[in-house]
Amino acid sequence: MIPGGEVKLNELYQEVILDHNKRPRNFKKIEGANACSHGKNPLCGDDFYLYLNKDAQGIIREAGFIGQGCAISKSSASIMMSLIEGKGAAEAEKLKDAFIRFLTAESVDEALRAEVGKLKIFEGVRNFPVRVKCAALIWRTLEDALKNNGAHEVSTENEETNQ
Ligand code: ZN
Repeated sequence: MIPGGEVKLNELYQEVILDHNKRPRNFKKIEGANACSHGKNPLCGDDFYLYLNKDAQGIIREAGFIGQGCAISKSSASIMMSLIEGKGAAEAEKLKDAFIRFLTAESVDEALRAEVGKLKIFEGVRNFPVRVKCAALIWRTLEDALKNNGAHEVSTENEETNQ
């Protein structure tokens, strides 16, 4: 292995992803949720249900998810839980847009990296178009829950990538 900071950082990031995969946060159905959706990535077999409880002002007070998927899709969902609680729909949408751009844009700059915050651990995913669909899945599911409240099933099968 080549010694160097970059390699070590990648290893660390991978550990965070694996940890979220092993112990996903808010991995539960929210009883009485007032927004939900079902997302699937048939190319990988990722399949999740997302539940949100929004207050009268539309702020996401509680979020949870159940289902199954690969480490990338599950850790993306787990990290999303900690990022969307306390946010309104517009703010959550903005983060979703930034993360999709982060995964699919031809290049990523520091401003975008700062905007996605702890989601930047998924930067390595950019090089694997198939994995982009995994990382994006729960965010597309969130988009559907907020806009359509799960009126239809979402899929990332045709998610555009930078390759
Ligand atoms: Zn996957």
